[in-house]
Amino acid sequence: MNTAQRHEYLAALGLETWVIRGKPASTLSSTIASTVASTMTSTVASTMEPPPASISPSTMTPLPPGAAREAGVDWPELRARVAACTRCALSATRTQTVFGVGNQQAEWLIVGEAPGAEEDRQGEPFVGRAGQLLNSMLRAIGLPREQVFIANVLKCRPPGNRDPASGEAAECLPYLEQQIALLKPKIMLAVGRIAAQNLLRTDMTLGRLRQQVHRFGGSQVPLVVTYHPAYLLRTPGDKRKAWEDLKFAREVCANV
Ligand code: SF4
Repeated sequence: MNTAQRHEYLAALGLETWVIRGKPASTLSSTIASTVASTMTSTVASTMEPPPASISPSTMTPLPPGAAREAGVDWPELRARVAACTRCALSATRTQTVFGVGNQQAEWLIVGEAPGAEEDRQGEPFVGRAGQLLNSMLRAIGLPREQVFIANVLKCRPPGNRDPASGEAAECLPYLEQQIALLKPKIMLAVGRIAAQNLLRTDMTLGRLRQQVHRFGGSQVPLVVTYHPAYLLRTPGDKRKAWEDLKFAREVCANV
């Protein structure tokens, strides 16, 4: 492994940074993918989880009752309904709803848990340091933020950043379901344990859910699970696993 390759490899694993300096984003994914594939040393390989033997659906999530509540609604009407929503108690404490942002022709839908304090203030998901890391993670696989759509399971902030109650998630999910119906993404990336568990209606750990292809609801969109960037900021040692998840998701998307 030469020096340049080692730098690329380390950067790809997030051990220095998610972005290779001097490389345009558009060439990054193929460069990193080929570098990682061709230069994986036995030392590093032995510390990594084995790749999946094949990409095959693992779970098919039934929709909760009422999930088709917003069926047939277009983007402007859906946005207006979310903005005016008082279906759960979170409406009383929010500054504003956070509908989601991005390209309405996107192939990738990134789904987080719920707005945090900064998202509640700005009205946009994944802003602040966690948002910057998410942007870097996406850029590392050749996806500028502008090319994806980013949303949350819940459109309002739970006070004190507590976990959303199951009833709150159930009330809000039809909005995301209709966003998916309008968007028709090729792949969904569930970011973080809470998002994954709510989307897949399971209490399995994130560690058991990642590196598998799940299917979401009636739309049957392939869904891959990875870590939340806020967690990765606290636990940078797991950036390597997140990088594996992103490569896995990119492979899934390429084979849809
Ligand atoms: S979290 Fe969802 S269901 Fe609850 S008030 Fe906000 S938009 Fe409505």
